[in-house]
Amino acid sequence: MDKTTIITRFPPSPTGYLHLGGARTAIFNWLYARHTGGRFILRIEDTDVERSTQESVDAIFEALDWLGIDWDEGPYYQSKRFDVYKEHIARMIDSGHAYYCTCTPEQVEQMRNAARESGGKPKYDGTCRDKNLKQQDGAVVRFKAPLTGSTVVDDKIRGPIAFANTELDDFIIARGDGSPMYNLAVVVDDITMNINTIIRGDDHISNTPKQILLYQALGCDVPDFGHVPMVLGHDKSRLSKRHGAMSVTAYRDMGYHPDAMLNFLVRLGWSHGDQEFFTRAELIEKFNLEHIGRSAGVFNPEKLLALNGEHIRAAATPDLVPHLLPFLKAKGIAAEPGDYLNGVIDTLKPRSKTFIEMADGAGFYFQEKPVYDAQAAAKFLKSDLLAPMKQLTDAISQTETFDETSLEDLFKKVMEDADLKFGKIAQPVRVALTGGTVSPGIFEMMIALGKSRVVSRLKDAVLFMETGVSAAK
Ligand code: GLU
Repeated sequence: MDKTTIITRFPPSPTGYLHLGGARTAIFNWLYARHTGGRFILRIEDTDVERSTQESVDAIFEALDWLGIDWDEGPYYQSKRFDVYKEHIARMIDSGHAYYCTCTPEQVEQMRNAARESGGKPKYDGTCRDKNLKQQDGAVVRFKAPLTGSTVVDDKIRGPIAFANTELDDFIIARGDGSPMYNLAVVVDDITMNINTIIRGDDHISNTPKQILLYQALGCDVPDFGHVPMVLGHDKSRLSKRHGAMSVTAYRDMGYHPDAMLNFLVRLGWSHGDQEFFTRAELIEKFNLEHIGRSAGVFNPEKLLALNGEHIRAAATPDLVPHLLPFLKAKGIAAEPGDYLNGVIDTLKPRSKTFIEMADGAGFYFQEKPVYDAQAAAKFLKSDLLAPMKQLTDAISQTETFDETSLEDLFKKVMEDADLKFGKIAQPVRVALTGGTVSPGIFEMMIALGKSRVVSRLKDAVLFMETGVSAAK
């Protein structure tokens, strides 16, 4: 099989949202294609008409889009490819690798029971295998599986795994109405889409020997397979809703950065020494199949949160803007991209683990006037500090240079004149500017607010200290 260009795929079944495990599979295939300069194909496996919905298809696109996973081909829809499957099924019948079977479901059930009773594996007994039946209403198509020997999956992650062919029976590849069965459709798609590398969850491993036999029957080269262990929860059971949100976009809505999610999901199964933090570019550069682990990754939400904080800190500020804006909007804050918002973000980056935290911290920057927390105002905006606060306000309103050094000098002068420690003056200033007692560093925050907002908020605080009446609307 030609592997000069690596061609991978992600073939979700659209029966729900994109969950963390599915996203990890998509990411592995995408990264491997990007790392090798190959191609990544998206295919929607929607042959299960009952369970597939357009809503799920849209949810999958939305999640991939948020994660920044792009595809070079597709999306293909299995539901639109029935002609291709039919053609391959016909070819297998012609070559003697498949046959029509008219046994009823009841008869097959009896065969299975009989096999079970005699201590064997419940299987179809091959009644129609050599009958050479013609196509007829309701006849299914069965694959003529080998009766002896074994099929080896040369797994790129787990090493070679041999399956005895006696474990298999003549499984159905087409239903009575001619529609393809799952394994047949997957193999025909992977063949016709030239997929040469398949990385997927090890819940699919039992399908792999059947699929390999179908490749062989169709006279096609078998691609490389790698089966990734499932993600587990903290209690080592398979990850489920009990362990936290399962949908990828739920993390977007909780204020996570897609790069953090990408980094986190990749690390649930792949490693590069003991490095934990990876940028998107670094993942593309370093990802390989050799370092996908054989043991299951354990989902740790605290680790994800910490990683998110790191990604927020490491990102260029303008790149954070589109992620933060929806959260500001949700809080009724009408912020626009631009220098002011960038300055605000700069001060919040070091102290925000999520965009929700960042939006919470940003509130005071966008208020016309800060709303004083009653306790903070009672404690810090008292008349005994009126003189130094007035002096500081005047000094700031008169200064020509408004930067950290000049502000520091102005504070020093006021502190010396009134014989005050920094904290004594910084806290009232903080309440004056933000309404509360917790905020980014005083000088960086003042620079972000800009001189005119700072002066007007300080003047309002002075007035409050004089009259006890808040200027806040
Ligand atoms: N459609 C399958 C799923 O969503 C994937 C099949 C495959 O990777 O071969 O689990």
